Amino acid sequence: MSGFHALVPAAGFGARMGQELPKQYLPIAGKPMIAHALDTLCACPDIATVFVVLSPGDTQFRTYDWSRYGEKLQPLFCGGATRAESVANGLLASELDADDWVLVHDAARPCLTRAHLARLIAELRDDAVGGILAVPVADTLKRADARQRIEHTEPREGLWQAQTPQMFRAGLLAEALARGRNVTDEASAVEALGFQPKLVEGDSSNFKVTYPQDVVLAELLLKQKLPDNHAVSQPFC
Ligand code: C5P
Repeated sequence: MSGFHALVPAAGFGARMGQELPKQYLPIAGKPMIAHALDTLCACPDIATVFVVLSPGDTQFRTYDWSRYGEKLQPLFCGGATRAESVANGLLASELDADDWVLVHDAARPCLTRAHLARLIAELRDDAVGGILAVPVADTLKRADARQRIEHTEPREGLWQAQTPQMFRAGLLAEALARGRNVTDEASAVEALGFQPKLVEGDSSNFKVTYPQDVVLAELLLKQKLPDNHAVSQPFC
């Protein structure tokens, strides 16, 4: 029987954050950012393994104590030059069966809740294609011209903002990424094969930490959620 596994690309540097420490290691609510997502993924009883794809030159990951995750957490030092390359390399190194489900989740989305993760799995476990957590676009969208003047207003009806986890069969995802690595998420690669991944509604709290002000917001949300979502059982140094 096929299983469920998570794969967390964490080989980026987070240049837009303007910090020397790669953003996945920035401290948020008492631990490195990546530990929040790993807590949620490792706590999910459906998920058998959580693979973390790190840069081959990563010197930071091993400085923390991850022992509470046991064998469930598997670091892979095979990150690539882009997110898509990191995911493709991680899939290859994980040696998953083609039928296994893989949930790809950004290390930079620390506010994923157990409830949204459970909903994603419940809605997709019998799906033929797979899908992603996403939220309907709330803001009015403007198309800019080269002078940063509004060219026109885009109708937002039917537009969704893609998040992670993005959940696909390992075989389909590997094939999709092998054909097109110039993508910013897994769903786009699968779409390019002619499939229509499902949109599973999450909420805006699962945002990607990109800019310094996002750290402040994530910290506020995570501190509020700590009692039910995150058990800080060991100190991180
Ligand atoms: O840079 P961005 O915020 O889009 O990165 C999203 C996720 O992809 C992060 O968790 C980052 O560490 C990861 N990534 C990666 N390999 C790269 C670039 C980004 O694993 N070469």
